Amino acid sequence: LFAGDTDFLKGVVAMSGLPPADRLEVCFAGRSNVGKSSLINALTGRKGLARASNTPGRTQEINYFTCGPELFLVDLPGYGFAEAPVAVVEKWQRLLKSYLQGRQTLRRAFVLIDHRHGVKKVDEEIMTLLDQAAVTFQVVLTKEDKVKPKDREKILQQVRKALSTHPAAYPELIVTSSDKGDGIPTLRATIATLE
Ligand code: GDP
Repeated sequence: LFAGDTDFLKGVVAMSGLPPADRLEVCFAGRSNVGKSSLINALTGRKGLARASNTPGRTQEINYFTCGPELFLVDLPGYGFAEAPVAVVEKWQRLLKSYLQGRQTLRRAFVLIDHRHGVKKVDEEIMTLLDQAAVTFQVVLTKEDKVKPKDREKILQQVRKALSTHPAAYPELIVTSSDKGDGIPTLRATIATLE
């Protein structure tokens, strides 16, 4: 699945812009700075790939990457728009809802959580959207190399507790460090089992 070429395909701003639903896809969601670009780059082995989605102007787009001929990786850029105008936030949320509810080939959402910080209110909001759209989601903890060992278990417990209130949550957590490469093979293997 990950042996083929990976490329940025397009940024989508409306449902009409989605590419043909001709293969399965997984999406990645997370607060700005959670390490989403780094994770997508580590997953695909292509440094710099996901940077496009971080540039200003791309932040309200659904960014599609091809991953060989059989998989789309979909980057749902950072939520938690404290500074964005209300109209922009509302437009983005409408698109996000339509996407989550309407995309037949979407198999799983990966919700990225910074391992140092645990689940925040904005993370709860996206999880609730995923519940409502009945999209199974799985939490990927990021930057595990930055967590103090003494805090690790406490944060994992907080995350598990938060997930227990979300019917669409897949219970297994994936702990990753894009810097060290930890957890990346597990994430790949998880995606490879989806049908
Ligand atoms: P995004 O905004 O979610 O796309 O986040 P980025 O991938 O751009 O990462 C945000 C910051 O966190 C950058 O400075 C990264 O170098 C850093 N970062 C991302 N992943 C890791 C990781 O696994 N370990 C460490 N130590 N830093 C990371």
